[in-house]
Amino acid sequence: MPRFRKKPVEIEARVWEGYNWDEMVEFVGRGIAKTGATLHIQTLEGTMHARPGDWIIKGVQGEFYPCKPDIFEATYLGPWVTCEDCGNDHLESEQAGHDLWFKTREAQGVPA
Ligand SMILES: [Zn+2]
Repeated sequence: MPRFRKKPVEIEARVWEGYNWDEMVEFVGRGIAKTGATLHIQTLEGTMHARPGDWIIKGVQGEFYPCKPDIFEATYLGPWVTCEDCGNDHLESEQAGHDLWFKTREAQGVPA
């Protein structure tokens, strides 16, 4: 049976906090509105709604759509930051991201 894996794709995302409207407008641009704490987002599949705590994702084709936090946690790893020391991307949550990156490379036998 032919076997396949999803390619890793990088997306941008922000959390809709319920009050960071200006940030959302700057991120999404046209195509959003709100009533109370509910965001209305024009997506490729019509208008979708986001509640506080939901992520707003900018997909690989520049499209926007909301994502529930539990789905987001299960699907994405991040945020990634570009390291000032070595120029590589490390996980922001890893305080020792830089050291870990090199240790992993060393363990894989990648020359420094
Ligand atoms: Zn680094």
